[in-house]
Amino acid sequence: MITISTALDIIERETPKLVAERVAIEDSVGRVLAEDVVADTDMPPFDRSQMDGYAVRAADTKDAPAVLRLVGESAAGRGWKGRLKAGEAVRIMTGAPLPAGADAVQKIELTSEADGTVTINEPTAKGRFIVSKGKEVKRGATVLRRGTRISPANISVPAAFGYAKLKVSKRPRVAILATGTEIVPVAKRPKPDQIRNSNSLMLASLCQSAGAETVILPTVGDKLSDLTAAIASAAKTSDLVITTGGVSVGKYDLTKEAVAGLGAEIFFEKVKLKPGKPTVFARVKKAYFFGLPGNPVSAAVTFHLLVRRALMLMQSASAIELPSGFAVIEGEAKGTRERDSYLPATLATDAEGRLLAVPLRWHGSSDFIGFASADALVKIPAGGSLASGEVCEVLFL
Ligand code: AMP
Ligand code: MG
Repeated sequence: MITISTALDIIERETPKLVAERVAIEDSVGRVLAEDVVADTDMPPFDRSQMDGYAVRAADTKDAPAVLRLVGESAAGRGWKGRLKAGEAVRIMTGAPLPAGADAVQKIELTSEADGTVTINEPTAKGRFIVSKGKEVKRGATVLRRGTRISPANISVPAAFGYAKLKVSKRPRVAILATGTEIVPVAKRPKPDQIRNSNSLMLASLCQSAGAETVILPTVGDKLSDLTAAIASAAKTSDLVITTGGVSVGKYDLTKEAVAGLGAEIFFEKVKLKPGKPTVFARVKKAYFFGLPGNPVSAAVTFHLLVRRALMLMQSASAIELPSGFAVIEGEAKGTRERDSYLPATLATDAEGRLLAVPLRWHGSSDFIGFASADALVKIPAGGSLASGEVCEVLFL
């Protein structure tokens, strides 16, 4: 049995990086950049007005009210081409370029226009209501680094600098295979000793949110030949095969035997982790393989801690882990002697501004209904326990 950090090191060492491809920017959300995004212009590209108002020379407004001669208009997309002289003003709109000769804007609310003149009612100062050329970024600057995932928050950056196509890492192709004679499809009514397959959809959506493209394979029962055939076939067309079930020590836990029979190189098969001890990581022919426990919560936790990392490494992402931090635990939590435990919790804040982790009331590692409302996993180091009010490490889900 290896520690979680050894398991993470092994994943980091063994996981191959996928090649890059170019995609239309429209299709890039969720993908990991395989190139730096570089500004091809200053931003803003010209001195830009922040207000609807009048472009002026600040000195002309010193003894406001000041009556200035209106000599033109600068609209967004249609700038005024002349040069502003002393005693003159140009009507200007938000987003429009500041005319040459002007050094300030006064907002429309503090002016009045009549008969070819404008009265500036209050002084404005040099640079007021102007964002100068290159203030936000200079041409040639790197504005997004390779390894960054494109998201709704940052897609406007490559868009603004002309990246109609983006070089991104290929999406890992992941095959998901639920195993277990008791497992029936979601649409089927289970007999008294059967269970619906909730793992495959959960894992497929977790993989997709980590940037992968997924196929859910038909479930296989606990029969060695079927299991072996299903894994072999999945390994042919996938970068990663994920199974659930059949990794512990019961008579019908056959996953390890199946991958061993395919000549797999097994990197680890037991991790000091609760839940999720019997997790297997291997290479089966050209594909990589995670054998996760069947318990839905164990499958989710091992995904978050281990599988997600492999998917991010395949995409050469710079952030390969869930975001983590610290919180104050509200309520006590017991760990186990030799494994680190990860306990589902909800997050809250208190009036002192502290982040609180409130362990879920749940029925243990098969309780996926309780787990469904978790915002975070609280880490309880092996051999320890947490008293209410202690600071704990949390992973944000
Ligand atoms: P196993 O790891 O095969 O011993 O399974 C552990 C528990 O998880 C058993 O109660 C299984 O019925 C349950 N389980 C296994 N696979 C799934 C699945 N795909 N969906 C929901 N529950 C499952
Ligand atoms: Mg089973």
